Amino acid sequence: MLIKNVTVLTMNSNKDIIENGVVVFDDDIIIDIGEESIIKNYPNHEVIDGKEGILIPGFINAHTHCSMIAFRSLGDDVPNRLKRYLFPLEKMLVDKEIVALGSKYGICEMALAGVTTFADMYYFEDEVAKSTKEIGLRGILGETIVDFIAPDAKKPYEGLEYCNWFIDKWKDDNLIIPAVAPHAPYSSDTLHLQKAFYLAEEKDVPIIMHIAEMDYESEKYMNEYNLTPVQYLDSIGVLNSRMLGAHLIKVNDEDLEILKKREVGISHNIGANAKGAHGVAPAYKMYNMGLKLGLGTDGPMSGNTLDMFTQMGLVAKIHKLVNNDRTIFSADQILEMATIGGARALNLDKKIGSIEIGKKADLVLVETESINMQPIYDYYSVLVYSANSSNVSTVIVDGKIIVKDKALLTQDYRSLSNEFKKIKDRVMTIANTL
Ligand SMILES: [Zn+2]
Repeated sequence: MLIKNVTVLTMNSNKDIIENGVVVFDDDIIIDIGEESIIKNYPNHEVIDGKEGILIPGFINAHTHCSMIAFRSLGDDVPNRLKRYLFPLEKMLVDKEIVALGSKYGICEMALAGVTTFADMYYFEDEVAKSTKEIGLRGILGETIVDFIAPDAKKPYEGLEYCNWFIDKWKDDNLIIPAVAPHAPYSSDTLHLQKAFYLAEEKDVPIIMHIAEMDYESEKYMNEYNLTPVQYLDSIGVLNSRMLGAHLIKVNDEDLEILKKREVGISHNIGANAKGAHGVAPAYKMYNMGLKLGLGTDGPMSGNTLDMFTQMGLVAKIHKLVNNDRTIFSADQILEMATIGGARALNLDKKIGSIEIGKKADLVLVETESINMQPIYDYYSVLVYSANSSNVSTVIVDGKIIVKDKALLTQDYRSLSNEFKKIKDRVMTIANTL
């Protein structure tokens, strides 16, 4: 296939922009990029007219729990939400069916918003993998490990056994990268954090974990070891380049040096962090230090949206605000974190994250016909400050068209909405007791 009549924001190392550009791909691989004149070299390719839209690499949502969409808008403004509300709610309600339904719906929402790759951690992650395949996105999917009885674990740490099985099942899939996902340092003991790490080493898969998100987490490691959470994890030998850390809010300069030295990937989740009043991670410092930094939405009970446009706008504005400097984090740097930055954090930057010959055809066309898209003096600025997910018109993942003219081709999400109505009473009855 060939896409013409677009402005290509390549997000390559020069951040080259090609106006009136063309991108050609055979099956799942990009084979040529250039100006209109290259079209004549491909007389037999199917042509997509981009209608003067902006073509970008697919967004990478570096941290979410998409199945939690089943509980979106429930109990948003309560104190101590995670332990008092969310964990009990999950224990009583989450089953295979809810994860299957929630993940399908969440992945539909991501696809329509131009997310082509996402990193997820939850329970019954096999259901998330099946939904991801069905809709056709790329997923780095981790089964959660915790030190308590969980929706799919009859005893503490049973997630480790699930991971073992789950990884073997999906290891060779073209769209799924299975992962090990200990929930957080404080919800596993040292031995089991190390077991999770060695399992990831043995199977050669990523490890995903919330790190340095909570005040009580920092207090625990300071009281017990006189260390920060990052220093504690480093001291037990579980930080290396296969680690994707979500949040990393409560970090000092020494922690940042450790993250750089160990090549830890980072998902910065500003929307969820702001809503949870957890603080602002030093993302600008991380970016300037050259850390592997991507952006994530977090779960839709924490951040409520799964789209990267919302994240990009918030990242730009909140960091300018807290640094009292309107010049920091230029719009191109923001788009970089939402695309190739996320790919770096996931160690996938040789495969995805930019529009370059030899890379996977994971492409998103943002139309420029809607009222909020004109005029355009700076493409990056339009994407970060005035576009939204409803401007995504075509989404291609692994060379296949998933969204065309704003319609999702691989799933009927409206029928899924009706399923949520059926479980609403059951959810509310339990939520009212918490
Ligand atoms: Zn999370």
